[in-house]
Amino acid sequence: AAKRHGRNHSQRFRPALDMQDSPQLGLVNELRHALATGTQLELHYQGQHHLADGALVGLEALLRWRHPRDGMISPADFIPLAERHGLMASLGNWVIDQALAQLARWRRLGMPEVPVWINVSALQMFQGELESALAAGLARHGISAERLGLEITESVLLDERAGDIAPRLGVLRERGHPIAIDDFGTGYSSLGYLKKLPLDKLKLDRAFIKALPDDRADAAIVGAVLAMARGLELEVIAEGVETIAQRDFLRAAGCSLVQGFLYARPLPAERLEAQWQEHESAGGSPDGARVAAE
Ligand code: C2E
Ligand code: MG
Ligand code: MG
Ligand code: MG
Repeated sequence: AAKRHGRNHSQRFRPALDMQDSPQLGLVNELRHALATGTQLELHYQGQHHLADGALVGLEALLRWRHPRDGMISPADFIPLAERHGLMASLGNWVIDQALAQLARWRRLGMPEVPVWINVSALQMFQGELESALAAGLARHGISAERLGLEITESVLLDERAGDIAPRLGVLRERGHPIAIDDFGTGYSSLGYLKKLPLDKLKLDRAFIKALPDDRADAAIVGAVLAMARGLELEVIAEGVETIAQRDFLRAAGCSLVQGFLYARPLPAERLEAQWQEHESAGGSPDGARVAAE
């Protein structure tokens, strides 16, 4: 099923895909082909920023499928398809390799050295190949684990197939990978896991940001999460920040990190590079990536 935020977050994606019932085997085979050739798949990168000054602190890698007939297909549509048809491990491995290749290229080009965060699906967590794929990729591209963050969606914690993931996340974090819980607040899971899991960040789901600052319930929830995270010494990053009013509310509430269209859209790597180069030639700050969100 398409994820809850799959429907409404972008009109750029063709809405024609509803894989709820029909298996869409044609599309599955096309995805298999896209994976085999690697040509239709891309990672786009969206900045994560310090709220205080807009400085770039990280990039989230978001998968895109540029379908030759159907145009851009949303990951919210094709990732569930990949999961159902046994393609998620290869897709996940492709993302790992691609993100690490990009980090290596950016290092050669002298681009900002911020971590890239990849999304890890439930299936990758319970199929058990994740650790070896990560280790092999880091070695192949000569990148250290600190540069590759892992976003684990909160609902994974409820997925029995994933087993007890705390020790596995512990190993990955000990190797150096920063770890974030994605879509925090939407997974209906007990807060007890926050005590057990080795975590660096909570990504507060866009669902709670959308109606800020007017919605009193969302304002209360966001305030409570921020207070709790401070006590647990976890960083919070607000997802889907689109307006200055949302940003101002988050600032007043003590949220230090933000991601959203107000700051940057997900962009192909070449576009980011062009922006960075432009910024440098304009005599920008060394991180080359401050955002005019003020
Ligand atoms: P997510 O990880 O929670 O990613 C955030 C989504 O919100 C992205 O949608 C992003 O483009 C969108 N977004 C960011 N800022 C804003 C904003 O200000 N307003 C609005 N309306 N939307 C915003 P996208 O790229 O379509 O990805 C959807 C979901 O697909 C992701 O949610 C993630 O769960 C999944 N996904 C994407 N790439 C991958 C991947 O490589 N592997 C896996 N397993 N899942 C992925
Ligand atoms: Mg994410
Ligand atoms: Mg998210
Ligand atoms: Mg989300």
